[in-house]
Amino acid sequence: MHTRDYEILLLGAGPANLMAGLELLDQGQHRSLAIIDQGESAFARHCKASHVNGCRHCTACDVVNGFGGAGMFSDGKLHRSDDEYAARAFAYLERFGLPSFDDAPAYMSRLKRMRKLLESHRFSLSGYISQHVGTDTIIEVTRNIETHLRSAGVAFLFARRAVSVTWEKGVYQVRCVDRGGRSFTYQAERLLVGTGKASASVFAELFSELPMQRVSVMPSVGVRFEFPTSALRKITGGVVKDPQIALKTRTGATLTTFCTCEAGQVVPFRTPAGIQLGGQSSTREGTGRSNFAILRRIDQNDRQEDDPFAFGQAFVSRVHAINPSMPLLQTLGDFLDNGVKDRFEKHDTTLPYYDYTNLNSLLPTGLASEIAEFVDRLGQIDSNFTHRANILSAPVLEYSVPMLEVTDFVISRYPGLYFVGDITGYASGIISSAIMGLLAVDHVCRNSS
Ligand SMILES: Cc1cc2nc3c(=O)[nH]c(=O)nc-3n(C[C@H](O)[C@H](O)[C@H](O)COP(=O)(O)OP(=O)(O)OC[C@H]3O[C@@H](n4cnc5c(N)ncnc54)[C@H](O)[C@@H]3O)c2cc1C
Repeated sequence: MHTRDYEILLLGAGPANLMAGLELLDQGQHRSLAIIDQGESAFARHCKASHVNGCRHCTACDVVNGFGGAGMFSDGKLHRSDDEYAARAFAYLERFGLPSFDDAPAYMSRLKRMRKLLESHRFSLSGYISQHVGTDTIIEVTRNIETHLRSAGVAFLFARRAVSVTWEKGVYQVRCVDRGGRSFTYQAERLLVGTGKASASVFAELFSELPMQRVSVMPSVGVRFEFPTSALRKITGGVVKDPQIALKTRTGATLTTFCTCEAGQVVPFRTPAGIQLGGQSSTREGTGRSNFAILRRIDQNDRQEDDPFAFGQAFVSRVHAINPSMPLLQTLGDFLDNGVKDRFEKHDTTLPYYDYTNLNSLLPTGLASEIAEFVDRLGQIDSNFTHRANILSAPVLEYSVPMLEVTDFVISRYPGLYFVGDITGYASGIISSAIMGLLAVDHVCRNSS
């Protein structure tokens, strides 16, 4: 077995730990720094799925693993705020090619108009400023960061999956396996863990020797909805990029939109639980189709298991049981008719591969009729939302990471062990994850001087 010592280890190469890496270098803490990830370099990542056979079940899905983490093929919607740490994160990103943003006044005024329009149709809107830079820009920025870290001497340990973390005599040991099953152990006194949302289901196993409390949260589950871009622009004016539109339905449930991708595409990716769906878009070529997730937060009445996390995973597993290599899709027309008449028609979707099914029976009780009500209401704003050829696809599972026992968002009960980004249950997105990387480094630096 191969063993190597470092001063600081970053486990997971997503936005949280990349920001931490950049900050550590700037703070002069770069004598011996390594990043471990089960995926590949940002220059080697690409999805190998095929139109016919679907997902190839790669050891680590290239869409969400590797340098840049889930951020690299994301939609590139970045939450702008006045927060000091957000400003620091944006300063780094701009250093590596992110365009600056000065449209805040136009954005705010459009949000105001939007709210009025939506409220007149019984929706509510929670808006924030979201700078949309697109998947293409995010890929470029990520690669620039990789080049910079590499040239600064940071060690990249790619295609290494961490299987256990232990702590002995003040030193953390991260045992990893490579794709050939060989074992490697990396050691350091300080360890920043940023293994992202997808690793939540294997967290307990990874940290079995370092017990920590985690508080389960109710997940949100639902579908992606694809429709003509003109309908979305009628609401957003093409200015507001990530509106969270909510509706209290007749049943009393609240449904919200999540991760709107204007003129974008729906993208499948694989987590340990199975295939899931997200969205992305390019600033260079639009698709003419837009999509967002329509989600319902699961509540007490939905729970069939004691563990809400298991409930969310069970939804993904139901889809997986029908076809383990494809997401599932249905036209809006068939969804409303509870049938599969359109199965062999040409489908107006941006999904690269899928299987056709009746989604009604897979969704938690009542959700199908609530989604139908949501879409019907949108149709009163623009009838293009209610085309029978519009597309619903599944599964979508969000906000499902149990909240971890940490103080100041990142500090664990074990000295020198920090958690950053989505895995903490406190972040959700590129900028909030990046901020945690900065917070952790602040603490590391304060405690090493
Ligand atoms: C399709 C899609 C679109 C998105 N669009 C947006 C968007 O527009 N705006 C936005 O703000 N957010 C978006 N997100 C969410 C955003 O990407 C994440 O919130 C963010 O990347 C989380 O960063 P992180 O550093 O916490 O972890 P992640 O980015 O999830 O990275 C975790 C890394 O850890 C590695 N890892 C995990 N377990 C192990 C292990 N055992 N051993 C070794 N390595 C491991 C993984 O390989 C991965 O590279 C999107 C996500 C997806 C999937």
